Amino acid sequence: MSLNLQLIHLAYFVASLLFILGLRGMGDPKAARRGMGLAALGMLIAVVGTLLHHEIITFKWIALGVLIGGGIGVAISISIPMTKMPERIALSHSFGGLAVALVGVSEYVRHMGLLGQSPATGLHMTAFQMGAVSFELLLGAITFTGSVMAFGKLQGIIAGRPLTFKGLNALNLTMLAAGVGLVIYMVMFPDDARVFYSIAVLGLVLGVSLVLPIGGADMPVIICLLNSYAGLAASASGFALGNNVLIICGALDGGSGFILAMLMSKAMNRSFANVIFGAFGTDGGAPAAVGAGAAAAPVNEASVEEAAELLKAATSVIVIPGYGMAVSQAQHAVRDLASVLTANGATVRYAIHPVAGRMPGHMNVLLAEANIPYEQLFDLDDINNDFAQTDVALVVGANDVVNPAAKSNPGSPIYGMPVLNADQARTVMVLKRSMNTGFAGIENELFVQKNTMMVLGDAKKTLTSLTTAVKAA
Ligand code: NDP
Repeated sequence: MSLNLQLIHLAYFVASLLFILGLRGMGDPKAARRGMGLAALGMLIAVVGTLLHHEIITFKWIALGVLIGGGIGVAISISIPMTKMPERIALSHSFGGLAVALVGVSEYVRHMGLLGQSPATGLHMTAFQMGAVSFELLLGAITFTGSVMAFGKLQGIIAGRPLTFKGLNALNLTMLAAGVGLVIYMVMFPDDARVFYSIAVLGLVLGVSLVLPIGGADMPVIICLLNSYAGLAASASGFALGNNVLIICGALDGGSGFILAMLMSKAMNRSFANVIFGAFGTDGGAPAAVGAGAAAAPVNEASVEEAAELLKAATSVIVIPGYGMAVSQAQHAVRDLASVLTANGATVRYAIHPVAGRMPGHMNVLLAEANIPYEQLFDLDDINNDFAQTDVALVVGANDVVNPAAKSNPGSPIYGMPVLNADQARTVMVLKRSMNTGFAGIENELFVQKNTMMVLGDAKKTLTSLTTAVKAA
């Protein structure tokens, strides 16, 4: 083995180790930043190792790709705010899916020629390689259009509500089966270029038709699932190219994306099949239907001064952050109020719902950014029984994750989803701008409960005023 090849193998080995260590670090908030650093270092080493490859004829196109890709990456990272992270992830998955699909096509052309006439190229593809390349093309194409659709739905370019028609699920399952059938066909008849390219067309159509019937509220789960497809496609690409780091990295990506999608479905108490075929969710953010249920009941709107009086007297407070805290970037204002309340003798804790916000860990990241100690953050199961003995449940821009209908109304679309027991606190204080619904687009009876005070306004502004008022009270 040449020295060059030995170095490449060593680089891939070190990179794979760093990916695994990085992923391990991301499982714990304290080690997550270091984990990200290790994974990024692993990626750098893998890229440098690949650049040592003796088959590279010219670095011209590679340099151009690095410049364009790096430029797009930097621009996206700088311009897209934290609240738009799922959109950003969907966009980068679409690039990943497209890249993998194109690698599949180029591998096919390199071995079999543009029209599948292998003798012309003088190269040969084993049945295993052919299967891997076809599978990679199918999954890459699905990931590409599926992620573009997910981005469009989250961004509001495409309607967030489920777009479906009778028989769509059956059609999707048939197309999926046809895709698998075509992959098997290619293993048997690798010369049939038309069938190979039709796998790409089928994958592109499937990506659209699989994501269209899924509601905006379920998009983050679908993004994790697409992440998993992209990982599997990259792994298949690794088998086709004989590249170990791609196999390992793709498998890690595929496995972790799938586990995350399962965990998120579990946190919403939805089966995976229900997320994919259930057509749940609406555009979100619409005013609640007037005249029925919660919307018809009187709202107890309170002033900042009234809320401050109550907070001043409270000895226990549980803060429930939600998507609105992210929109308002109110995490620092939350910490400031908590400091004043703690100085006043109150115990302040934070209840973190697994799907609060728009991506897993959204609230943890924001609260960590504001230097709120991890010890004060509690998962749903660890804090839910404490609300009944708590003076104030301070809901900061959360809605669906505190909706009691999930516990009491079998007709509610979120019935069965575990929610935080904010309704059991002695006083519930809700900071949001209006009576509008949350992402699931449904009313929330908590807002009209007798012990609830609605302090309407932007969360950051309200919190800042509350801090001043508590100090002055
Ligand atoms: P919601 O989307 O239910 O509610 C957020 C609330 O924030 C809105 O009602 C809005 O009301 C309020 N808000 C928006 N901007 C501001 C602002 N500037 N100041 C104050 N309030 C504001 O959020 P939750 O976190 O409670 O729930 C998350 C939802 O996302 C759930 O339905 C969950 O299933 C879904 N989801 C989350 C995933 C995740 O991984 N985190 C994954 C999949 C789905 P108003 O407009 O009146 O201000």
